[in-house]
Amino acid sequence: MARVYNFSAGPAVLPLEALQEAQADLVDYKGSGMSVMEMSHRGKEYDALHNEAIANVKELMGLSDDYAILFLHGGASLQFAMIPMNFLGEGQTADYVNAGSWGSAAIKQARLIGNVNVAADCQKDIPTRMPEAGEMKWTPGAAYSHITTNETISGAQLKVMPETGSPLIGDMSSDILSRPMDYSRFAMVYAGAQKNLGPSGVALVAMRKDFAAKGSISLPTMLRYQTHIDENSLYNTPPCFSIYMLCLTTRWLKKIGVENMFKINRDKAQLIYDAVDASSFYRGTAKKEFRSDMNVTFRLPTEELETLFIKQASEAGMKQLKGHRSVGGIRASIYNAFPVAGVQTLVDFMKAFEKRNG
Ligand SMILES: *Cc1c(COP(=O)(O)O)cnc(C)c1O
Repeated sequence: MARVYNFSAGPAVLPLEALQEAQADLVDYKGSGMSVMEMSHRGKEYDALHNEAIANVKELMGLSDDYAILFLHGGASLQFAMIPMNFLGEGQTADYVNAGSWGSAAIKQARLIGNVNVAADCQKDIPTRMPEAGEMKWTPGAAYSHITTNETISGAQLKVMPETGSPLIGDMSSDILSRPMDYSRFAMVYAGAQKNLGPSGVALVAMRKDFAAKGSISLPTMLRYQTHIDENSLYNTPPCFSIYMLCLTTRWLKKIGVENMFKINRDKAQLIYDAVDASSFYRGTAKKEFRSDMNVTFRLPTEELETLFIKQASEAGMKQLKGHRSVGGIRASIYNAFPVAGVQTLVDFMKAFEKRNG
């Protein structure tokens, strides 16, 4: 078996254990004679997986029954639209922090629906960063406030969650369950699954039920959160196989524990940042205090060297290190399931590359 070190930002590496379990059960899931892809979403086998996935997420996030866990279609991007459609009524204002490409994508959708106040804007700052606590200006009585906890493209991560005075919503697509967090401070948290939770095709939403109840009632049924809460995410056919993989991934994470996972993640990221800081050849992109543990971004002296770096790393089995097309440079995405050995291999490669080309 030849598994590469896959530094992809998403869809990203999954726990090998989860893939192997899915493989073993692919054509005959637990003696049912069919694959999870082929089963009724109303049958007992699927039902057990669906509810275990919900229970796993709830336990890992430490949330009470005041919260609903939803599995929705349309990725994090549909959430950018559903949030204002449900919660940004006429005459109201929603606060958004713009700290990068994803925050700005969320704002663009909200502006199609209603009035947006940009509570802090640091998208254009280089080195990239998140806003400082005092920099964010919240609107009294805002419908909600929206933050992106980890900017996947720039590699900047919010380390302390702000006090906003209105229901807090977090796009955690690229760092959900990567660190201990008081999720109950949020009215809603959401994430496309394909970075830290499973394959693409499903978005996770954790939402306080009393917040959901305030949502607009004049929306199409599929676009209302309340529909999916009432139907336990089974109003229509859910992305069953993606939810199954999310179930296996959260089962794996429960064995490790979020606290422990965080330590592993931090150590992995630190290995690369230390290598960057120890050299004048590599240059970190994000400001130190906002460096992401999930997406480590850095530059080389020239774009030609970056191209060579990516090519030679790929030949050595380290794939997808190219930074996002909008920013260039190098991005090593090292989500929960990314192995420590892969980080060590990258760091060794960085040192050897610098020796050859520095
Ligand atoms: C990847 C990503 C998205 C977009 O997710 P989709 O599921 O592709 O819509 C949104 N926000 C953040 C922070 C991301 O990393």
